[in-house]
Amino acid sequence: MTGRRIGCRICAMVRQVFMVSSFDFPDAVVLNVDLGRGTVRREIIPGRDYRLYPGGSALAVRLLLEKMNPGVDALSPDNLLVFAVSPFTGLPTAGLSRIAAAAKSPLTGGIGDSQAGGFLPAEFAANGISALAVSGRSEQPVYLHIKDGTAEIRPAGHIWGKTTGDGEDLIREELGCDVEIAQIGPAGERLVRFACVVHNCSRANGRTGMGAVMGSKNLRALAVSRAAKPRPASPEAFRDINRRLAERLDDPFWEDFKDTGTPGNVEPLRDMGYLPRNNYSSGWFPDFKGIRIKGGGKCYVCPLACKRVAEKSPGVEPRYGGPEYGTIAAVGSYCGITSGESIKISHQICNMYGMDTISCGATVSFAIDCFSKGLISERDAGMKLSFGDSESVHRLMMMVAEREGIGDILAEGSARAAQIIGRGAPDLVTATKGQELPAHMPHFKPSLSLIYAVNPGGADHQSSEHDTMLFAQEGSHARRWLSSLGVSDDSFARQSPRKAKMEMDGLRVRFALLTQRFYSLLDTLCLCQFVWGPSWQALGPDDVLDLASSGIGWETSLEELMEIGERKLNMMRHFNAREGFTKEDDALPRRFFEPLPDGPSKGARIDRRNFDEARELYYSLAGWDASSGNPSPEKLKSLSLEWLI
Ligand code: SF4
Repeated sequence: MTGRRIGCRICAMVRQVFMVSSFDFPDAVVLNVDLGRGTVRREIIPGRDYRLYPGGSALAVRLLLEKMNPGVDALSPDNLLVFAVSPFTGLPTAGLSRIAAAAKSPLTGGIGDSQAGGFLPAEFAANGISALAVSGRSEQPVYLHIKDGTAEIRPAGHIWGKTTGDGEDLIREELGCDVEIAQIGPAGERLVRFACVVHNCSRANGRTGMGAVMGSKNLRALAVSRAAKPRPASPEAFRDINRRLAERLDDPFWEDFKDTGTPGNVEPLRDMGYLPRNNYSSGWFPDFKGIRIKGGGKCYVCPLACKRVAEKSPGVEPRYGGPEYGTIAAVGSYCGITSGESIKISHQICNMYGMDTISCGATVSFAIDCFSKGLISERDAGMKLSFGDSESVHRLMMMVAEREGIGDILAEGSARAAQIIGRGAPDLVTATKGQELPAHMPHFKPSLSLIYAVNPGGADHQSSEHDTMLFAQEGSHARRWLSSLGVSDDSFARQSPRKAKMEMDGLRVRFALLTQRFYSLLDTLCLCQFVWGPSWQALGPDDVLDLASSGIGWETSLEELMEIGERKLNMMRHFNAREGFTKEDDALPRRFFEPLPDGPSKGARIDRRNFDEARELYYSLAGWDASSGNPSPEKLKSLSLEWLI
C-alpha cells in the first residue's frame, strides 16, 4: 500500500492532465436490441464520456436516463433492460467477472439494479461488449445468443415454462457447451415481481426484480459464447496485483472464509441475538443450528472460491448451488425453520424457478405472520401456515412461482400484497421502497438502518460497509484503507461491538456515506465485494488504483474514483426523483422502531428521532435537497450531470 489519499487534489489534477495527453479511455460498445422490431444496433460511447460512467450499474443507469422516459410501466415494452460490465471485466485476476442488470424495478417502481458473478460476465466482456440494452417486447419467447461481438435473436418457445436446469440443458443442446447462460425461470415468465436472472443455475442478479422485466419482454435467456479474454495493458504490473493477492490470501482468515463463507455469519449473529426470526419480529433463535455447506465454488479465475457447493441428497441437486447467509436466514430463520435440509430445498426452488431468495423468503414469512394474526385465513391460503413448518413454506414458494391461489398476491411482493390484504398487514411488511430486507439487522449495525432507507434500489446490505468495521484494530489494513477514503480516526470504536452504543452519530453517518460511495464504485467497475473493498477484503482502494493503471493504463486518483461512485448514486436518486420518489420513501419498516422482545438483544430498537436526524445529516453531507431528499441542480452540475437538468 502506498498511502495515496483522496485529499491530494493537485496530484490528481496533474495525473489527469497527463492522462489526457497520453491515454485515451476506451470507448464503450453498446448493443441495442429492440425485441419488438427484431433489430440489433451497435453504438459507441466515446471514452471521454465513458470515463464518467465506466461500466456496470453506472453505465446502465446512464443509458436508462438517456433512452427511457419517466413514468413507464416497469413490465411494459417501454422499460429498458441493461446488462453492463466494465473495462476491467475478464482481466486475469480475482473478482473481475461480474455484471450489472438494471431497469425500472417492477418491485420498487424506482431504479432496479443487481449484480451477479460467475463466468458469463468475463465472456460477455471477451465479446467486446460493454452493455446490452434490451427494449420492446418480442411477440414470441426468444433468447439472445451473443457471439463474435453481436447478438442473434433465437426462438425460445421450447424452453418457456421449463426450470432453469432444463432450460440450460436445452440451450446447450443447441449451441454446444462453449456458452455461459443467464436466464429467467417460470417465475420470471409469470412476472413475479421479485423474479431474478439466474446464471449457471446457481448465481443470480437477484434483487429488484430484473427477471420479471426479462419475462415481460418474452426474453428467456442470454447465452454468451466464449471468446479470447482481454489482456492487461501492463502485464508485469498486473502480475504484481496477483502476487500481492496471493500473499494476502496466505492467511487463516481467508482459509476460513473459503471453508465457511458467508454462512459463517449464522452462529455469531444468532448468539448475539441478531439473527432475524419469524418475519423480523425477533433476533433470538437459539435453536437455529445453521447448516454446513462446503465451499470451493468459483467465479472466473478467482482463487478465493468462496461459493457454496451443495452435495446431492434427497431432493437436492448440486447444480443449483448452495445457500449463502442471506438465503439461509430468509428461507430459514425468517420463516422459523431450523432444518438445514429444508433450507437447501427452499434455496433450490428459488434457483430452479428464478426467484430472489431474500424477497421470496421474506414474503413467505410475511404471509405466515399475516396468518398468525388472522389477516389471512386457511381458506385464503389453501392450507394452514405456521412458522417452522417446512412443508407449507415449500408449498407457498411453489404457489408464488406459479402465481397459484394466494401465491398470485404474494408474487406482487410483500408491500403490494399487504395493500391487497389490508387491515394490519402493512405494519407487518419489512421492506424499504417495497424491497424486502436482507438479514443484517440494523439494530446491531445502525449505519445499515440509514443505508437501507436511503439506498435508491431499496434495502440492500451490499451497498456500504457494515458497522462492524468500525471496530477494526489500529494499524490494520482495514483502518488504513477506510482512512484513505476519508473516514475519520475518531469514527473507530474503542469498546467491543457487544458493548457499543447502537445509534447513529455524525461520524457514523459520514462512514456510511463514504463507504456507500466506494461500494457504488465497486458496482460500477464490476468488482466482487469479497475480493475488492474498503476494509476487510483482500484488495483495497490502492489496489483499485493499481488495477486501473496496469489493467487499462488509466492513471486515476481515489478522488476521481470516489466521484464516480457518488455520480452513480446521484443518477440513481435522480432516476427515482423522475418517478416521483421523495424523502418519504426513505423510510424504515415500522417494526424496527419497536423493541426486540427476547434474548440477548431484548429491548434493542431503532430510535426514531436518532434515525430522522441521521437521515437529515446524510442529505446535507450528500448535498441533496433537505425537503425532498433529491439531488439539487447544483449538485448534479458539480458532478458533470447538467444533462439531467
Ligand atoms: S470471492 Fe467468491 S463471489 Fe467473489 S469472485 Fe471469488 S468466488 Fe466469486
